[in-house]
Amino acid sequence: METEVFDYFSALYSNADLTAPFDRAAALLRAGELVAFPTETVYGLGANALDPAAVTKIYQAKGRPSDNPLIVHIANETMAEDLAEIPPLAKELMAAFWPGPLTLVLPAKPCLPRVTTGGLSTVGLRMPAHSAAIRLIEAAGLPIAAPSANLSGRPSPTSAGHVLHDMRGKIPLIIDGGEAAAGLESTVLDLTSAVPAILRPGVITAADLVEFIPGLTEETRLPHGGVARAPGMKYRHYAPKARVVLCDQTDIYPTYKAAWRQFAAQGNSHPKIAVLATLNGLTGLAEAENCFLLGENLPQVAQNLFTALRWTDEINADLVLAERFPETGLGIAIMNRLNKAAANEPKPPTDKQGEQHD
Ligand code: AMP
Ligand code: MG
Repeated sequence: METEVFDYFSALYSNADLTAPFDRAAALLRAGELVAFPTETVYGLGANALDPAAVTKIYQAKGRPSDNPLIVHIANETMAEDLAEIPPLAKELMAAFWPGPLTLVLPAKPCLPRVTTGGLSTVGLRMPAHSAAIRLIEAAGLPIAAPSANLSGRPSPTSAGHVLHDMRGKIPLIIDGGEAAAGLESTVLDLTSAVPAILRPGVITAADLVEFIPGLTEETRLPHGGVARAPGMKYRHYAPKARVVLCDQTDIYPTYKAAWRQFAAQGNSHPKIAVLATLNGLTGLAEAENCFLLGENLPQVAQNLFTALRWTDEINADLVLAERFPETGLGIAIMNRLNKAAANEPKPPTDKQGEQHD
């Protein structure tokens, strides 16, 4: 299958007709096909959430385990009410954070096929803050189930180029809406448990939510190594091909030198050691090749992290050294992804299906 890329911003800025391309994308979705689209978090691989055959194509295209539920994307609150029971707290959170990078896990209504919810009686709902995503959902007039548009286990895509790399030939259309602004997937908040809990940390933190949920802390989330409450959390994610080692900022240079010596001792006299760090973390490495500047602050690091992890594959790195960040605020979400990339999270199951990832 030929994969077409539609350049949304070029069309938008040149005042070109947007109705025809979005009508075409919507027609593909209504016909049970997959369309990749931009959001403010990462790119999504979308299908009609109400069509089990279409949703099955998502799992196939990604190589994703079928017990890992999909987030359903909607364009207005009426769509949310059609799909889930909405308690008053959810209404408040929607008013405060939607459109935005917050997924709410709610009791699902029977119209939602179980394949969409990974077999669960709950559904994760989100209204994305990207005009192309909203246009697509509105044009289709359908809720769109969409996980990240990467092959399972690979770093999530934050550009149309990343999606093309993973999905070329597998899907008919990618809507190119530029670089994802946030760069990390949404915060997943479970409102179906007795005590609301963050299942996946994201740009919206416990500190942002505590005003609405007294007592909510980051510890309410799944502890490292704990029991998987969000099914997707038991799989290894974000992993580039090379081994990833996390280093405190001041340890990066000594670790780099030690690793270089170790490769040399093993007969590799010119190893490709990729270093992903802030400017301070790159101290001493001015002459080193294969350094990737993640940015100067945590929002920049979040935005660039998946691009950096994918780049280590492009250069065929032998080893990846990545800077460790303090686990507060946005640092929690960044470290969650880095720990998974470094496989410091719960080990993937050994059965064949379990080798698949998010
Ligand atoms: P992705 O869209 O690929 O970033 O993955 C979606 C994430 O949301 C996974 O970690 C899922 O486990 C989580 N998720 C989606 N729906 C639910 C749900 N009903 N219950 C718990 N977690 C969910
Ligand atoms: Mg994903």
